[in-house]
Amino acid sequence: MNRKSIRFSMNILAVLPLICLGVIMLAVSIPVIHGAIVAETEEGLKNLSHALLEKCSVMEEGDYSLEDEILCKGGVPLGQDNRIVDSVKEVSGIDATIFWGDTRMLTTIQTETGERAVGTRASEEVVNAVLGEGEDYFSDHALVNDAYYYGYYTPMKNSSGIVVGMVFVGKSRERVSNTIFHVVSSVMIAAVLVVVIALTISLWYAGKMVSSLSKIREFLGNVAQGQLDCEIDENLIQRPDEIGEMGRSAKKLQVSILNLVGTDPLTGLYNRRNCNEALKQAMQKYQESGKKYLVVIGDIDDFKHLNDTYGHPAGDQVLRELSEIFQTCMQEKGVAARWGGEEFLFIYNEEEGALHALEGMMEKIRSAQIIYKEQKIQVTMTFGAASCRDDDTIESLIKRADERLYFGKANGKNQIVCE
Ligand code: GH3
Ligand code: MG
Ligand code: MG
Repeated sequence: MNRKSIRFSMNILAVLPLICLGVIMLAVSIPVIHGAIVAETEEGLKNLSHALLEKCSVMEEGDYSLEDEILCKGGVPLGQDNRIVDSVKEVSGIDATIFWGDTRMLTTIQTETGERAVGTRASEEVVNAVLGEGEDYFSDHALVNDAYYYGYYTPMKNSSGIVVGMVFVGKSRERVSNTIFHVVSSVMIAAVLVVVIALTISLWYAGKMVSSLSKIREFLGNVAQGQLDCEIDENLIQRPDEIGEMGRSAKKLQVSILNLVGTDPLTGLYNRRNCNEALKQAMQKYQESGKKYLVVIGDIDDFKHLNDTYGHPAGDQVLRELSEIFQTCMQEKGVAARWGGEEFLFIYNEEEGALHALEGMMEKIRSAQIIYKEQKIQVTMTFGAASCRDDDTIESLIKRADERLYFGKANGKNQIVCE
């Protein structure tokens, strides 16, 4: 694709903002999603930790104590074996630990060898916060047995309010990261899909616009090269927008040029170029319908003398005024054209009544009151007429009309010669 083309610029204009939007969306949404999932994890762990502590506190009456290395409540071992923490893991899949002081007594966490991590100790940070301050503590990087956890600690107090241990529930960071990854990847896929759809629509629209502009460019290029009969796409002209306007203006330009090159500037009649077109059309129509038509060539009599007598501008005035008569008389009957100099060609679409109409026109010419600088000028014309025959070509038809015109010229002028 040409880097200077509108198509290239429009594609860049469509692609760049969408890619920026996609990147910004991801850059903003990933931390937000991460924060929301961590906050929800903390809330869930807090509830679970409090529920576990509540469960321990209602198991037996009395205080927590350590008897023969066994954690007891009211002198009774707290739960049988690790069932109390195992039940938490079974229901929620979350690891749970009950500490005596900073030492794990009951836990679902296992060592590398597959044994329960009983007897291992909490970190100093946790001990200070929970055992020292008697406060809940949340850590997003609790290191237990070489594995990192999102962990929630709640202090375990005796009836006197002394903190004797703590309850821990924790979710491995790997699990939370997996959840974050799944949510973020879903958002990413959705964002990429939106960008792809938006891009496709933008590129499709840009492509359509550029192809319309290309059609106008191609049309104007053809007109510029002289192909004045070339067609412009109709759909383009129908468009209600600025491109449609451009298309309509291009079409008007073509019509104006056609008028300019096909019209004689002095008389406003068709010139030889348009006259040839009209002759072709008349012949084609005749070949299709078989309806005869008449071609007439008329020449002003003694026009050189008129020029010599009254001057060239007077001659021009005569040409203009006669042309007005031709236009009026030929209306709805056919075409009048300036064939050259002071010669004119007329096409009567229907042979019937054509000679009568021509006689009428001749009469008008004879009686025309042409005034130039207060001088009255009178003119006459000689006409040669030929109606088309089956074996005629345009050239043979014109030749016949021409021969009759010259016959008329040689035989007194100011007349119509038809057969
Ligand atoms: P004929 O009756 O045999 O047709 O004689 P003619 O004098 O009309 O014919 P000729 O061919 O001898 O002269 C035609 C003249 O028409 C010569 C030329 O100067 C003049 N003419 C051609 N075009 C124009 C024009 O545009 N303006 C003026 N004023 N004169 C023109
Ligand atoms: Mg003449
Ligand atoms: Mg002549």
